[in-house]
Amino acid sequence: IEESEKFRIEYWELEEAKLRRMPAPKPLAARVALVTGGGSGIGRAIARRLAAEGACVVVADRDAEGAAEVADELGGTDRALAVEADVTSEEEIAAAFRSAALAFGGVDLVVNNAGISRSKPLLETTAKDWDVQHRIMARGSFLASREAARVMTAQGMGGDIVYIASKNSVFAGPDNIAYGAAKADQAHQVRLLAAELGGHGIRVNGVNPDGVVRGSGIFAGGWGAQRAAVYGVPEEKLGEFYAQRTLLKREVLPEHVANAVFALTGGELSHTTGLHIPVDAGVAAAFLR
Ligand code: NAD
Repeated sequence: IEESEKFRIEYWELEEAKLRRMPAPKPLAARVALVTGGGSGIGRAIARRLAAEGACVVVADRDAEGAAEVADELGGTDRALAVEADVTSEEEIAAAFRSAALAFGGVDLVVNNAGISRSKPLLETTAKDWDVQHRIMARGSFLASREAARVMTAQGMGGDIVYIASKNSVFAGPDNIAYGAAKADQAHQVRLLAAELGGHGIRVNGVNPDGVVRGSGIFAGGWGAQRAAVYGVPEEKLGEFYAQRTLLKREVLPEHVANAVFALTGGELSHTTGLHIPVDAGVAAAFLR
């Protein structure tokens, strides 16, 4: 037997041994989840769904009131915890993970959901728009993922990190430079961290929603008016407009995004990492802007 062949066998034996040591993903009922931006919209729906599946949920949001409302709804201190945290702050992110550890003993699942939109046409986009957009989505999710990796590798039980990215991370929506570029950054974080953390049993995946108008604070807070102007439809008809342009002719709701997070983390997709699941009723498949 040649030296190189011996090395190949040893290598694979070692890899197999590592896999045997790796625990299977814990069921959601035995997990602690931390959802950034969990106080509103899609994040709230994700927090609700994970709690309904039995997870303890830490609702981390810079909007303390929104976070408290969701945590109360999910059963208060026994099963859920509200933490006021701005994802752009290293200290506040670290404190949120510490609070999670104190309340529930650790963190096994992190959802990078916090986000805003500062999208405008290129020539109207200021350096500040760019910086704020990237601080919250690119830097914020990097910080939360780094903390998640610290905690999860120390726990030695694997884990899940899910990014709520966007169809706009891949496709060029109109007048979307700041938001689209920050979402593309998040999408590549998914691939990079899936590669770096896979050996610890930490899976990193993304969800790409589109057109979730109802319940979205981003849409209510100016993005809806901007998008309505871009598409030439009245703002109150925007949900309908988005639904009509999908392949399924269906409106995408926050709960549909939460279903995808559950699909990725609930146990059945235990061998999937580095993937983005579109939740857009078919818009991306048809290449619609
Ligand atoms: P939302 O405004 O209802 O929720 C965003 C939450 O993030 C809010 O609670 C807000 O307080 C929080 N947040 C914002 N900045 C923060 C910060 N610095 N630190 C901590 N929390 C912060 O909006 P949504 O539509 O539910 O969006 C949630 C995520 O989904 C965002 O990342 C958004 O980009 C993404 N997304 C939304 C859509 C959509 O159609 N609504 C489509 C694709 C992607």
